[in-house]
Amino acid sequence: MGTPGTGLRLLPKKRGAGGGLPTIKEPYRIELSARLFKLSAQSTSFTSTSTSYTLKSLKIVKRLLLMKCRTLGKTGIEVGIVSLGAEHLEHAPRDTVISVVDEALNNGVNYIDLFMASPGVRDNFGIAFKNRRHQVMIAGHLGAAYKDGQYYRTRDKSIGEAFFYDLLRRLQTDYIDMLMLHYIDEPADYDVVFSAGGVLELAKRLQKEGKARFIGMSSHRVPSSLKAVASGHIDVLMYPVNPAFDTLPGNMPWEVTKKDEWYKQLGGYTTKPVIERRELYHACAINNVGIIAMKPYAAGRLFKPGNVSSIVLTPVQCLHYALSQPGVCTVVPGCKTVPEMKAALAYLKGTDEEKDYSAINVNALWKLQGSCMYCNHCLPCLVGIDIGTTTRLADTAAYGKDKNVISQYEDLIVKASECTQCGACLERCPFDVDVIANMSKAVDVFGK
Ligand code: SF4
Ligand code: SF4
Repeated sequence: MGTPGTGLRLLPKKRGAGGGLPTIKEPYRIELSARLFKLSAQSTSFTSTSTSYTLKSLKIVKRLLLMKCRTLGKTGIEVGIVSLGAEHLEHAPRDTVISVVDEALNNGVNYIDLFMASPGVRDNFGIAFKNRRHQVMIAGHLGAAYKDGQYYRTRDKSIGEAFFYDLLRRLQTDYIDMLMLHYIDEPADYDVVFSAGGVLELAKRLQKEGKARFIGMSSHRVPSSLKAVASGHIDVLMYPVNPAFDTLPGNMPWEVTKKDEWYKQLGGYTTKPVIERRELYHACAINNVGIIAMKPYAAGRLFKPGNVSSIVLTPVQCLHYALSQPGVCTVVPGCKTVPEMKAALAYLKGTDEEKDYSAINVNALWKLQGSCMYCNHCLPCLVGIDIGTTTRLADTAAYGKDKNVISQYEDLIVKASECTQCGACLERCPFDVDVIANMSKAVDVFGK
């Protein structure tokens, strides 16, 4: 409950308004350092004129400097790019939950998704967050319920509200940061939730009452996600992002996506699936709906040699793929042990070589598409253009040139107009992308 005076406060001064929040803008290291001096001076015995750092101050500094942050969609909050998806901790012993949460928070994670409705895991997280609630944004799901030892989904508002209050009580908190409209895939289900009298109304009431700060939606399918993004009602979208699912049709039922047979049927398939999902990512970027990328490992499939997607990657490569896609603000890998949490956090210290996910080109669909994967395998550019980011922004702008996209392009140090058409990058691109044409397109779109 409340916000002790140390560390990164994530509680808004005015509940429900999302205002009054400290933010950590990039270049985060410099600004963070300045802010940390202030925070630490307020909350511990540390002062800028003294060399008497307390252990607590050093821990705060370590935690915040380790993590890179991005603005989380319309919330305006800076979220660590590596977060934690708690799904696989549902049946873990309490000690494991506590140690995974400690490992995450000690390394700068400040967002944890907690969709599970079972009482035991909620209690365990409540204990794990004790005295640390102020360090983390918690995503709780409206529509996840529990009966007879089983999770189920519901659109019954009274049941949803009862489980919401159960979550608050078991987490020992009085608010949830991100209230997710849970698992909305079917168009008919979307209509039920978003129409008058639906669960969205309940979410807005809870937000107005100060019990929830922001509203998001979790989904596995493109059409309902696109509708939600266009509706203007959601601040974030929780969506599966990985190079295996990205080759599948965007309207595929989630249960079917998990079965290998689908991949086998996709041999010789058109490039349409890839484009469908990309359109959703660009729509999120344009509408400032932050994507919380779930399932970055494709449920572990991407680690297995010989898996049906033919793509095999490391955790660091998977996270880099997800974080390179338009609109993605953070990834929520499911970690059920401290070593798994460490493997995800290793992304923060990964070298360019370790992050390189160009190996996805073994899947013919990526080759077929011939469009940029934003992997930057083509670098270094002789004049210093960030080719992946430049191309991504130009692609997003093709769907809609909003001020966010323009400002991100303005932030690039070297613009596409500097391209000398030397062709050095072309040989290094594993996807046969016409980089020179893309630079020219970027100049057309942004004027420089
Ligand atoms: S042009 Fe090729 S190598 Fe460069 S970012 Fe795009 S896909 Fe990657
Ligand atoms: S062709 Fe343009 S983008 Fe590619 S390396 Fe040369 S200057 Fe850079």
